[in-house]
Amino acid sequence: MNKVSNDSLEKIASEVIGCPLCKLSRSRRNAVPGDGQLSSKIMFVGEAPGKNEDEQGKPFVGAAGMILNQALEKAGIKRAEVFITNVVKCRPPGNRVPEDDERSICRQYLDRQISLIAPKIICILGSTAYSSILGGKSITKNRGKIMERNGQKYFLTIHPAAAIYNKNLSSVLNNDLFLLSKEIKKMEYDKRTSLLDYIVDETKL
Ligand code: URA
Repeated sequence: MNKVSNDSLEKIASEVIGCPLCKLSRSRRNAVPGDGQLSSKIMFVGEAPGKNEDEQGKPFVGAAGMILNQALEKAGIKRAEVFITNVVKCRPPGNRVPEDDERSICRQYLDRQISLIAPKIICILGSTAYSSILGGKSITKNRGKIMERNGQKYFLTIHPAAAIYNKNLSSVLNNDLFLLSKEIKKMEYDKRTSLLDYIVDETKL
Protein backbone atom coordinates (compact mmCIF):
# COMPACT_ATOMS: atom_id res chain seq x y z
CA MET A 1 0.00 0.00 0.00
CA ASN A 2 1.31 3.47 -0.90
CA LYS A 3 1.79 6.00 1.86
CA VAL A 4 -1.10 8.50 1.97
CA SER A 5 0.43 11.97 2.33
CA ASN A 6 -0.50 13.76 5.58
CA ASP A 7 -1.44 10.48 7.19
CA SER A 8 -0.37 9.91 10.79
CA LEU A 9 -0.90 7.40 13.58
CA GLU A 10 -2.93 10.03 15.43
CA LYS A 11 -5.17 10.59 12.38
CA ILE A 12 -5.75 6.85 12.02
CA ALA A 13 -6.49 6.55 15.76
CA SER A 14 -9.08 9.30 15.64
CA GLU A 15 -10.74 7.74 12.57
CA VAL A 16 -10.80 4.34 14.30
CA ILE A 17 -12.26 5.83 17.49
CA GLY A 18 -15.15 7.34 15.53
CA CYS A 19 -15.43 4.58 12.92
CA PRO A 20 -19.06 3.72 12.00
CA LEU A 21 -18.18 1.41 9.10
CA CYS A 22 -19.14 -2.03 10.39
CA LYS A 23 -21.62 -3.56 12.82
CA LEU A 24 -19.00 -3.86 15.58
CA SER A 25 -19.18 -0.08 15.96
CA ARG A 26 -22.68 -0.51 17.41
CA SER A 27 -21.70 -2.92 20.18
CA ARG A 28 -18.28 -1.59 21.18
CA ARG A 29 -17.56 0.59 24.19
CA ASN A 30 -14.23 1.81 22.89
CA ALA A 31 -12.47 1.16 19.63
CA VAL A 32 -8.82 0.10 20.06
CA PRO A 33 -6.60 1.64 17.38
CA GLY A 34 -3.29 0.32 18.73
CA ASP A 35 -0.47 1.47 20.92
CA GLY A 36 3.18 2.33 20.33
CA GLN A 37 5.72 4.53 18.63
CA LEU A 38 6.00 5.48 14.97
CA SER A 39 9.66 4.40 15.18
CA SER A 40 8.83 0.83 16.26
CA LYS A 41 10.93 -1.84 14.56
CA ILE A 42 8.49 -4.59 15.48
CA MET A 43 4.75 -4.53 15.06
CA PHE A 44 2.56 -7.12 16.81
CA VAL A 45 -0.82 -7.88 15.30
CA GLY A 46 -3.47 -9.83 17.20
CA GLU A 47 -7.06 -10.74 16.41
CA ALA A 48 -9.43 -8.21 17.97
CA PRO A 49 -9.92 -6.44 21.31
CA GLY A 50 -11.42 -8.44 24.17
CA LYS A 51 -13.45 -7.23 27.17
CA ASN A 52 -10.63 -5.39 28.97
CA GLU A 53 -9.36 -3.81 25.77
CA ASP A 54 -12.90 -2.65 24.91
CA GLU A 55 -13.16 -1.05 28.36
CA GLN A 56 -9.78 0.68 28.23
CA GLY A 57 -9.36 1.40 24.52
CA LYS A 58 -5.89 -0.20 24.59
CA PRO A 59 -4.65 -3.46 23.03
CA PHE A 60 -3.58 -6.50 25.05
CA VAL A 61 -4.32 -5.21 28.55
CA GLY A 62 -6.18 -8.30 29.87
CA ALA A 63 -5.07 -11.87 30.61
CA ALA A 64 -3.64 -12.42 27.10
CA GLY A 65 -1.82 -9.09 27.44
CA MET A 66 -0.14 -10.23 30.67
CA ILE A 67 1.12 -13.36 28.93
CA LEU A 68 2.37 -11.27 26.02
CA ASN A 69 4.09 -8.84 28.42
CA GLN A 70 5.87 -11.69 30.20
CA ALA A 71 7.03 -13.21 26.92
CA LEU A 72 8.27 -9.81 25.71
CA GLU A 73 10.16 -9.24 28.94
CA LYS A 74 11.76 -12.71 28.84
CA ALA A 75 12.85 -12.06 25.26
CA GLY A 76 14.32 -8.65 26.19
CA ILE A 77 11.84 -6.78 23.99
CA LYS A 78 10.49 -3.59 25.57
CA ARG A 79 6.74 -3.17 25.13
CA ALA A 80 7.23 0.61 24.93
CA GLU A 81 9.42 0.10 21.86
CA VAL A 82 6.98 -1.96 19.80
CA PHE A 83 3.66 -1.16 18.17
CA ILE A 84 0.77 -3.42 19.15
CA THR A 85 -2.53 -3.59 17.33
CA ASN A 86 -5.16 -5.97 16.00
CA VAL A 87 -6.61 -6.94 12.64
CA VAL A 88 -10.01 -5.71 13.81
CA LYS A 89 -10.12 -2.64 16.02
CA CYS A 90 -13.46 -3.21 17.81
CA ARG A 91 -14.50 -6.05 20.11
CA PRO A 92 -16.72 -8.69 18.51
CA PRO A 93 -19.65 -9.54 20.84
CA GLY A 94 -18.75 -12.37 23.23
CA ASN A 95 -15.20 -12.38 21.79
CA ARG A 96 -16.31 -14.34 18.72
CA VAL A 97 -13.89 -14.54 15.80
CA PRO A 98 -14.20 -11.43 13.60
CA GLU A 99 -16.22 -12.06 10.47
CA ASP A 100 -14.91 -11.59 6.93
CA ASP A 101 -16.76 -8.31 6.31
CA GLU A 102 -15.48 -6.87 9.62
CA ARG A 103 -11.92 -7.87 8.76
CA SER A 104 -12.01 -6.44 5.29
CA ILE A 105 -13.69 -3.15 6.30
CA CYS A 106 -11.12 -2.67 9.09
CA ARG A 107 -8.15 -3.66 6.92
CA GLN A 108 -7.43 -0.13 5.66
CA TYR A 109 -6.50 0.99 9.19
CA LEU A 110 -3.97 -1.80 9.65
CA ASP A 111 -2.52 -1.23 6.18
CA ARG A 112 -2.07 2.48 6.88
CA GLN A 113 -0.42 1.75 10.25
CA ILE A 114 1.98 -0.68 8.59
CA SER A 115 2.76 1.76 5.83
CA LEU A 116 3.53 4.61 8.27
CA ILE A 117 5.55 2.58 10.75
CA ALA A 118 7.35 0.53 8.09
CA PRO A 119 8.38 -2.06 10.70
CA LYS A 120 11.37 -4.30 10.11
CA ILE A 121 9.16 -7.20 11.00
CA ILE A 122 5.49 -7.86 11.73
CA CYS A 123 4.84 -10.47 14.39
CA ILE A 124 1.55 -12.18 13.66
CA LEU A 125 -0.20 -13.47 16.77
CA GLY A 126 -2.39 -16.46 16.06
CA SER A 127 -4.41 -17.91 13.24
CA THR A 128 -6.99 -15.14 12.74
CA ALA A 129 -4.26 -12.58 12.13
CA TYR A 130 -2.35 -15.14 10.02
CA SER A 131 -5.32 -15.81 7.75
CA SER A 132 -6.24 -12.12 7.52
CA ILE A 133 -2.75 -10.84 6.76
CA LEU A 134 -1.13 -13.66 4.79
CA GLY A 135 -4.06 -15.88 3.88
CA GLY A 136 -2.45 -18.71 5.88
CA LYS A 137 -4.47 -21.59 7.24
CA SER A 138 -2.76 -23.49 10.01
CA ILE A 139 -0.01 -21.85 12.02
CA THR A 140 1.68 -25.11 13.03
CA LYS A 141 3.79 -25.40 9.86
CA ASN A 142 5.21 -21.87 9.86
CA ARG A 143 5.16 -20.99 13.56
CA GLY A 144 8.48 -19.59 14.81
CA LYS A 145 9.59 -18.79 11.26
CA ILE A 146 10.31 -15.66 9.27
CA MET A 147 8.26 -15.26 6.11
CA GLU A 148 8.57 -12.61 3.45
CA ARG A 149 5.80 -11.18 1.27
CA ASN A 150 6.24 -8.20 -1.08
CA GLY A 151 9.46 -7.16 0.66
CA GLN A 152 7.89 -7.16 4.14
CA LYS A 153 9.16 -9.62 6.74
CA TYR A 154 6.69 -11.44 8.98
CA PHE A 155 7.17 -13.69 11.99
CA LEU A 156 4.42 -16.06 13.04
CA THR A 157 3.62 -17.24 16.54
CA ILE A 158 0.67 -18.43 18.62
CA HIS A 159 -1.91 -16.10 20.08
CA PRO A 160 -1.04 -15.38 23.75
CA ALA A 161 -4.63 -16.24 24.77
CA ALA A 162 -3.90 -19.85 23.78
CA ALA A 163 -1.52 -20.01 26.75
CA ILE A 164 -4.17 -18.94 29.29
CA TYR A 165 -5.57 -22.45 29.60
CA ASN A 166 -2.63 -24.45 28.29
CA LYS A 167 0.42 -23.42 30.30
CA ASN A 168 2.73 -25.47 28.04
CA LEU A 169 2.01 -22.97 25.30
CA SER A 170 3.60 -20.15 27.34
CA SER A 171 6.99 -21.67 26.68
CA VAL A 172 6.17 -21.91 22.95
CA LEU A 173 5.41 -18.19 22.93
CA ASN A 174 8.47 -17.39 25.07
CA ASN A 175 10.76 -19.36 22.78
CA ASP A 176 9.27 -17.81 19.65
CA LEU A 177 9.69 -14.25 20.95
CA PHE A 178 13.24 -15.07 21.94
CA LEU A 179 13.86 -16.17 18.33
CA LEU A 180 12.22 -12.97 17.12
CA SER A 181 14.48 -10.80 19.27
CA LYS A 182 17.54 -12.71 18.00
CA GLU A 183 16.35 -12.13 14.44
CA ILE A 184 15.95 -8.39 15.04
CA LYS A 185 19.46 -8.20 16.51
CA LYS A 186 20.80 -10.10 13.51
CA MET A 187 19.02 -7.71 11.13
CA GLU A 188 20.57 -4.73 12.94
CA TYR A 189 24.00 -6.37 12.80
CA ASP A 190 23.67 -7.18 9.10
CA LYS A 191 22.72 -3.56 8.48
CA ARG A 192 25.80 -2.31 10.35
CA THR A 193 28.08 -4.58 8.44
CA SER A 194 26.72 -3.70 5.03
CA LEU A 195 29.19 -2.48 2.38
CA LEU A 196 28.08 1.11 2.99
CA ASP A 197 29.79 1.03 6.40
CA TYR A 198 33.12 0.65 4.65
CA ILE A 199 32.76 3.69 2.43
CA VAL A 200 35.09 6.36 3.75
CA ASP A 201 33.68 9.88 3.97
CA GLU A 202 36.70 11.90 2.83
CA THR A 203 35.36 15.12 4.32
CA LYS A 204 35.84 13.58 7.76
CA LEU A 205 39.46 12.52 7.25
N1 URA B 1 -6.71 -10.59 22.03
C1 URA B 1 -6.38 -9.95 20.91
O1 URA B 1 -6.28 -10.54 19.84
N2 URA B 1 -6.13 -8.66 20.98
C2 URA B 1 -6.20 -7.96 22.10
O2 URA B 1 -5.95 -6.75 22.06
C3 URA B 1 -6.54 -8.65 23.27
C4 URA B 1 -6.79 -9.96 23.22
